[in-house]
Amino acid sequence: MPEPWSLVTYRNGSDPETHVGVLGADGTIRNVPSLAPARDVSQLLSDDPLALDALRGLDATAGEAQDDAVLLAPLRFPRKVICAGANYAEHVRELGLEPTGGSVFFFLKPPTTTIVGPGDPIRIPVAEEARIDYEAELAVVIGRGGRDIPAERAMEHVAGYTIVNDVSARGLLARADPLVPAMGFDWISSKGRDTFCPVGPGVTPAWLVADPHDLRIELWVNGERRQDASTAGMDVAIPELIAQASAMVELEPGDVIATGTPAGVAMASGRFLRPGDEITIRVAGLGELSNPVVADR
Ligand code: MG
Repeated sequence: MPEPWSLVTYRNGSDPETHVGVLGADGTIRNVPSLAPARDVSQLLSDDPLALDALRGLDATAGEAQDDAVLLAPLRFPRKVICAGANYAEHVRELGLEPTGGSVFFFLKPPTTTIVGPGDPIRIPVAEEARIDYEAELAVVIGRGGRDIPAERAMEHVAGYTIVNDVSARGLLARADPLVPAMGFDWISSKGRDTFCPVGPGVTPAWLVADPHDLRIELWVNGERRQDASTAGMDVAIPELIAQASAMVELEPGDVIATGTPAGVAMASGRFLRPGDEITIRVAGLGELSNPVVADR
């Protein structure tokens, strides 16, 4: 396996123009002149769903180091962010529930206003009852789109992998006195708030990830590790997630599917996030995603 690298979206200093580059295992960001027309990784995939496949011959150390590069979310404007809920049995158990296995619940995050990049602040409501939580997740980035994708062909539709923090306001999900039971939960208020989907640092091409179901996934709050698991613990594996999601909605190039979080969330420990906290997520081979937590207005 070659040394892993990822495709990133960056700008130089305060220059607003954005570029696609490569983040190497040594932390250096380099330009990739052949990708110069693309403004971000989602545009790259929209223009050519097989773009990441075509980079098999890329020498990730060949570009010019961009010393003033500021990382942005690699996918700034995906068409959809689909999240799988309750997809790790250990996580379901820590919430006091019994895992059912085999079926998964999906919800959507608004694709552009929730997304922030490495180092960007997560803006949280400060009311104690909002109970803000973190969720470290492996995310799949779709290359080739499709409807009704069979599980046995699903991996052909994966362009790469990234990290998502599925930030959640636990206390803002259930609504008091809903008109009907179907209106009892507000997923926008809980999971769809602005900045509630940090993504990054880059998108690692699928062919650089030997087995996405065998990756260590860890999350720290202020340097203290709160989540430490393997993606092997997923109840519904990636091919089946793609099959189930694409049975409901057409998947499009650049779509993100977050695969669920393992155990260790604040919902279980009661230690919710506060302004001033710093969250870092690491997924083996995909790099690290860190974001500070700040008070929203
Ligand atoms: Mg989640």
